[in-house]
Amino acid sequence: MDSLVYYLVPTLLVVGTVLFMEWFAAWSHEHIMHGWGWRWHKSHHEPHDETLEKNDLYAVIFAAFAVSLFWIGSNWFWPLWWIAIGISIYGVLYFFMHDGLVHQRWPFKYVPRKGYLKRVYQAHRLHHAVEGRDGCVSFGFVYAEPVDKLVSQLQRNKRKLDPEALQDEEERALTE
Ligand SMILES: [Zn+2]
Ligand SMILES: [Zn+2]
Repeated sequence: MDSLVYYLVPTLLVVGTVLFMEWFAAWSHEHIMHGWGWRWHKSHHEPHDETLEKNDLYAVIFAAFAVSLFWIGSNWFWPLWWIAIGISIYGVLYFFMHDGLVHQRWPFKYVPRKGYLKRVYQAHRLHHAVEGRDGCVSFGFVYAEPVDKLVSQLQRNKRKLDPEALQDEEERALTE
């Protein structure tokens, strides 16, 4: 019975938190960052030469939240410590997939040519295929829907936004 508490519960807390974080990140990306939080997120959707973006403040908030959970967890309520581990693991995955793989914010260039990483890469390129905050697709960072599904969703969104000018931005986004 003891081993259940020592191994199973922490494992479930960590795995559950990582899964929840992908859902929560996608949800807040769509409804907060592309909504009332656009002021910070806008910096991520505009071309620029600076190393940092105002959008990085969102990562700082998540990190500060995780740090406070580590603190509460180690002093008063241990399950929170494992939840903080899950949030931290998600942070690393987010950095690897989004900042690294898609936006090349690391000192080398690697573009995935096949498999799931390619799918995540292309899906997020499609997220950036629309100018501005409206009509975007694919708000997740670690999970991505199949690319053809996203392309047709993007075309529907664009037709709704601007029925006149149907450009092939999505194709450009995929071949870049
Ligand atoms: Zn966005
Ligand atoms: Zn991005």
